[in-house]
Amino acid sequence: MRCDSFTADQTGHLKNADSITHSADKPVRWHIKEIQALLDMPFNDLIFQAQQVHREFHNANAVQLSTLISVKTGGCPEDCGYCPQAARYHTNVENQDMLSVDDVLAAATAAKAQGATRFCMGAAWRGPKQRDIEKMTAMISAVKDLGMETCATLGMLKPGQAKQLGDAGLDYYNHNLDTSPDYYKEIITTRQYKDRLNTLQAVRDAGINVCCGGIVGMGETREARAGLIAQLANLEPYPESVPINYLVQVEGTPLYGTAKLDPFEFVRTIAAARITMPKAMVRLSAGRREMSEAIQALCFLAGANSIFYGDKLLTTGNPEVRQDQTLFEKLGMQSL
Ligand code: SF4
Repeated sequence: MRCDSFTADQTGHLKNADSITHSADKPVRWHIKEIQALLDMPFNDLIFQAQQVHREFHNANAVQLSTLISVKTGGCPEDCGYCPQAARYHTNVENQDMLSVDDVLAAATAAKAQGATRFCMGAAWRGPKQRDIEKMTAMISAVKDLGMETCATLGMLKPGQAKQLGDAGLDYYNHNLDTSPDYYKEIITTRQYKDRLNTLQAVRDAGINVCCGGIVGMGETREARAGLIAQLANLEPYPESVPINYLVQVEGTPLYGTAKLDPFEFVRTIAAARITMPKAMVRLSAGRREMSEAIQALCFLAGANSIFYGDKLLTTGNPEVRQDQTLFEKLGMQSL
């Protein structure tokens, strides 16, 4: 495909009118084949287009920093094929009961001192129980009082639970779609794609911003990656925050040993997310520690403008803060 056959308009959508159709009740902004066409473009053309869209909506040299903490680790009843916290897989992750509000507050204070503006709290549940919600609302209020943005990822939510979290001051709820609808059953069998969409709707209805993305490198095809991006981009509205993860292969999980995805394919996926969701914060998420500085720089060029910051994600490693600061200096980037 020639790079000039599609160009981005004000919203970042393709100007090729034939490529966008609308169903009776819900607009389909992006068809899978259009996104696949983006992913098939010559690399330089794709990155150029993504950078053009990026500059129209964002400061090209700024990156938002989020810090993630696991407030309850391991023992999860779900069977996500990538996750070391699933109780059924034998990994090195040690179960840990729910942290106290004081522990969480201390971690958030330290993250703020290092420059993080958003604090994300994750718990390994299928979904929280009411007593969990009560503890979470206390943590959310305490972190919010520090002047940080709050985010939580707690599994599936019912509408009333989403409302309680929102009332406590939750700014974002993370709930990833992980992969395309068709490939989902290869990765997770204990819940349906529709369950994810229902939680996302509950979060929206509670007035909480949506953080939703996926994982690449799970043995999926390029078409499946296009399917994931299409699903995200066609959410109404699309997520405010879109984490794109590169599978961290953990021994003991079913996806351990999956053929490694070429990192350029990961960069292409970031670019497609940027072009199709121009206003979103696109987060270069898990898997960054395994990436060279050059690949990370290409991700920023492709439109990533948010990272997880801190030495650890929920259970897997992340580049050290000092390393990140050095990289930002080399690239002339600053934090938002
Ligand atoms: S990804 Fe979340 S829901 Fe899935 S097994 Fe891990 S902790 Fe449980």
